[in-house]
Amino acid sequence: MHGWRNQRRGGRIEVICGPMFSGKTEEMLRRLRREQIAGRRPIVLIPPRGRYEDKIESRQGEQMAAVASSRACAALQMIQEYDWGGPYGVVAFDEAQWFDDLLEAAVALANAGHRVIVAGLDMDYTGRPFLPMALTMGVAEQVTKLTAVGRCDCEATHTARVGDGEDEGGTWEPMCRQCWKEACRQGT
Ligand SMILES: [Zn+2]
Repeated sequence: MHGWRNQRRGGRIEVICGPMFSGKTEEMLRRLRREQIAGRRPIVLIPPRGRYEDKIESRQGEQMAAVASSRACAALQMIQEYDWGGPYGVVAFDEAQWFDDLLEAAVALANAGHRVIVAGLDMDYTGRPFLPMALTMGVAEQVTKLTAVGRCDCEATHTARVGDGEDEGGTWEPMCRQCWKEACRQGT
């Protein structure tokens, strides 16, 4: 992202999306680590309903401190007295599909000159887009759609609900469109 550093005046919105288990948080952490190496201190926001209250974690176990907030726009207050290590900073949102005001926050932050990195599900298990993500993709400079490995060794773009439990690992499964359609038909 060296190019971004040179032309960061206008800020930037990057969206990382895809189904469950596609490595969205891992990709976000990779970008944030690079910023840390460059001496920046990113702010990471997560919704209160997520797995953790004070950190994000990839499936590989890599972690970074995060702040839980129900509103993405809370970042606008947080940056007022925040020391980025430079005039412009980096704000990341994980599980970003749960922030109703994601678009408003991302645009305001980017217009203020910051790099905004958004990671979240693009669709729910019925195949409908999560509106905050869809809207933010529409104004983003860069959209990365990740895929997972599905049950038929396919490139999984969808998330199917395969059980009734609340446990994440047992309830959700990434699938290609064809497998997902069959799973929906079976009513699982
Ligand atoms: Zn498949």
